[in-house]
Amino acid sequence: MSAFDTPDAEIRGTLLTLDLGALVANWRMLGARAGTEAGAVVKADAYGIGIEPAVTALSRAGCRSFFVAHLSEAIRARAVASEATIYVLNGLLPGQGGAYAQHALSPVLGSAEELQEWAAFRQANPAVRPAALHVDTAMNRLGFAPGEALALAREGADTVRAAGIGLLMSHFAASEDEADPANARQIAAFAEITAAFPELPASLMNSSGHFLKGCPAYRLTRPGYALYGGNPTPDRANPMQPVVSLQSRIIQLRVVEAETQVGYNGRWTAKRRSRLATICLGYADGYPRNASGTDTVPGGTALVGGVPCPFVGSVSMDLIILDVTDAPDNASRRGEWVTLIGGALDLETVGAGAKTIGYEILTSLGRRHTRRHVGI
Ligand SMILES: *Cc1c(COP(=O)(O)O)cnc(C)c1O
Repeated sequence: MSAFDTPDAEIRGTLLTLDLGALVANWRMLGARAGTEAGAVVKADAYGIGIEPAVTALSRAGCRSFFVAHLSEAIRARAVASEATIYVLNGLLPGQGGAYAQHALSPVLGSAEELQEWAAFRQANPAVRPAALHVDTAMNRLGFAPGEALALAREGADTVRAAGIGLLMSHFAASEDEADPANARQIAAFAEITAAFPELPASLMNSSGHFLKGCPAYRLTRPGYALYGGNPTPDRANPMQPVVSLQSRIIQLRVVEAETQVGYNGRWTAKRRSRLATICLGYADGYPRNASGTDTVPGGTALVGGVPCPFVGSVSMDLIILDVTDAPDNASRRGEWVTLIGGALDLETVGAGAKTIGYEILTSLGRRHTRRHVGI
């Protein structure tokens, strides 16, 4: 049993199994593939699997650079990784300098205001850790525009020095789609910027970037999704090991005749005499309501004794109804466990069934599950 396990497993109806050995193996594989240092993106509670177990396992394996989105997440990561460099992707908000200094954290600076504010703060607090400079090469979301960054390289050397910049980075907008011409444009734009800051180490690759032809690895990579078993190459077989599996128990079974309406608002109608199983999991557990199976639009799937069984009717807050007519009898009994994520139900399939992406499935994983950590 791991220190991070939920203590009261027997009183819960869902089980989330997190393979921290697979997480570490995925991190090692990406670093070896890139041929440079791989960091780890652990924002959004390590994509739902838990910042503390993820950062602890990766730190022990030798990971030295972590990226989170919020300052609050960085403070949690610092509590279990005393030596690592921890970057906050969402950057410096007014008045946060003190917390950065206190916890030895590194803001990712994305605008002239942030850079100036950090440079001024650092003059009074010279011991703070180096910051990163984010250049926006596609998304128009966060970061210096390429022209601004090039101007900074020409005319702003003093500010850059005063701010103590230790990393130059940019982020892909569509790296999971190898055919998107934006990738080559971003690679070229970032190459020009790194050439303007020859003394700065750089970072470009996210998960899919590791598999993108012609993408330089630079000093540090920033994988997130692939660490947790997501497929960084959605058009090809998944090269990563699965990290997350989710199971829930059958509470009740019933047989309904053809033409019977099922669930809130009767959105699914049985087309044949059907055996239905109601399981102990709903949208309050993070399974999106958009995975409801209606008469017109299919929804999510569960594996019952290995057989894919469709969700029927609306996903409720705490319950989902499955059509288990085709499942083996001994696997579709009260108290049996069914699989929601795992095996044939990889994150991409689950995401598609809920009209979203695997990333959102992961980051929505609920708080009611028994969490069991294996592989460490
Ligand atoms: C989320 C994020 C990453 C990781 O992206 P994945 O696709 O999950 O690998 C890397 N860099 C930045 C700036 C991010 O916001």
